[in-house]
Amino acid sequence: FVGDTKVGKSCILSRFVNGTFERDIPATIGAAFFTKVLTTPTGEVRLHLWDTAGQEKFRSLTPMYYRSAAVAVLVYDVTSKESLEGLEAWAAEIADKAPNNIKLVVVGNKIDLADERQVSPTAAQEFVEQLNATFYQETSAFTGEGINELFSQIADLQLDDVFLKQTEATKQPEPSSGCSC
Ligand code: GDP
Ligand code: MG
Repeated sequence: FVGDTKVGKSCILSRFVNGTFERDIPATIGAAFFTKVLTTPTGEVRLHLWDTAGQEKFRSLTPMYYRSAAVAVLVYDVTSKESLEGLEAWAAEIADKAPNNIKLVVVGNKIDLADERQVSPTAAQEFVEQLNATFYQETSAFTGEGINELFSQIADLQLDDVFLKQTEATKQPEPSSGCSC
């Protein structure tokens, strides 16, 4: 989960994992890793979820976040056009550092704040297409709207394929025979 600070990444994870909305999640809890099992039509999927911690200010990721990541969830706040624009830098960071076959998902959070909305679903959708993201989901960590849909769509992404390909890609080449050194 990446995106500018205060867009609601920690609240989305807390809503999904604990089923509650915590208005003031201390920034330190952001060093968090969560895991949860979801039942899908094709079986059980264990999601390993990383919340970015204090990295947001620098828009840069440490290896712990992107090593073996199958999906990058780019979160913005629908009441902040700036946070949507901020996703460009995040997408660039992902393209630069994360595995090549990582899937991108874009999330527009805080849809309960309808009166303060600055980004229309259409504008968001255009951005999502530009990024070639797999899907776009609107959420409210506050009301819970869209949260289960977000995670069940992620669980349905056939990520096994991504993991298998990553493992292939990181395999060490066989030592060549007949080495004379
Ligand atoms: P993070 O920095 O991206 O992890 O953002 P947080 O999860 O810490 O949330 C930042 C602020 O936005 C907090 O004050 C939350 O209470 C608030 N917030 C997060 N999600 C929502 C939401 O869906 N609706 C509303 N109204 N506020 C939210
Ligand atoms: Mg946070």
